[in-house]
Amino acid sequence: MLRILQKGVGLGFLLATCALPQTRFVGKAQWLGGAKAVVTHTIDDTTKFVPAAVDAMDVYGIKATIYVNTGSKLIEELWPRLRKAVADGHEIGSHSRTHPCKWPDTEEFCAGAYTDAEIVGSRDDILKNTPQPHVWSWCYPCGNCARYPFIQKRIAAAGYLVARNYQDEAKNGHLIPNVNTFAANAFDAAYTQVVQKKGGIAPTGNDDLPALNAKFDEVYAAGQIYNFMSHPQWLEYGGEAFYEAHLRHIGKRDDVWYVPLGPLYAYRELRESVEVKAQGKRFVLGTKLDRKVYDGSVTLEFVGKGKPVLDGVALVERAGGVVMQWKGAWFRRVGQRVFVTAPPAGVLEFR
Ligand SMILES: [Zn+2]
Repeated sequence: MLRILQKGVGLGFLLATCALPQTRFVGKAQWLGGAKAVVTHTIDDTTKFVPAAVDAMDVYGIKATIYVNTGSKLIEELWPRLRKAVADGHEIGSHSRTHPCKWPDTEEFCAGAYTDAEIVGSRDDILKNTPQPHVWSWCYPCGNCARYPFIQKRIAAAGYLVARNYQDEAKNGHLIPNVNTFAANAFDAAYTQVVQKKGGIAPTGNDDLPALNAKFDEVYAAGQIYNFMSHPQWLEYGGEAFYEAHLRHIGKRDDVWYVPLGPLYAYRELRESVEVKAQGKRFVLGTKLDRKVYDGSVTLEFVGKGKPVLDGVALVERAGGVVMQWKGAWFRRVGQRVFVTAPPAGVLEFR
């Protein structure tokens, strides 16, 4: 026991394991699966380069939000690949129908450009053409209009949970916003950094591989959200080029949760909302949120010896490993600690 104490195991843990045979709820894990850190990726625009970018992500296990302009002529060619991407755990987000863009933007421009057709219409195009149950994510074309509360309200009213910005491109403000957790305002949401060559009206790109990797290393070490964005038309493909080399550096890590941006923001609300009520030896899980929108799982930490059973069905045990989805149910044991990942509805028992 002295040796255990020297390893820094708390008294509460010893009491739970020695004195209390019953399984005890400890708390909600910060990230799904008890991961140490999160990687989320977003790519913008409807171009012929989108499939190459998604193919590259799939090699390295990166999950992205694919922002498309649903009014583009190219979109019909892309829908089959986008449907496969949804099946593979990516998300399709809206980048409007027609990509209205003006530098610098004005309140008047935004009021006229952000019509129902652009905001609601593009959402409905995605729902019609993919099996996705909801459209969680919006991306402001050219980064325009993100700062206006009246525009943010229009985005929120259409059911989006997060709207990604692209700030101050003309002065390279978009390159490394360095936001490594949830944005203070989800409807003006920045990210960690851009990964792309020079493009658009930006003076430079951000494609120096050692610097890109070092930024990831910093966010990963801090257990935060590494949130990077790219334009597929401003990348280079092939294993040695900067984009894929960066994906290789950050991908397939056993202690990282790979998830698109929308489901990640939905997870924040879901995790917050979940109630765990102990009833004798059972735990009743519940949330008041709409499960069609908040369709993910949460990870709950327990201390005890039994095997978790949810609504009468024994959960599958997984060793630690890459977390590549935001749904599903399984458990992982680390000594006396049991990490149960499950939808937040049902009755959990340990047998
Ligand atoms: Zn765009």
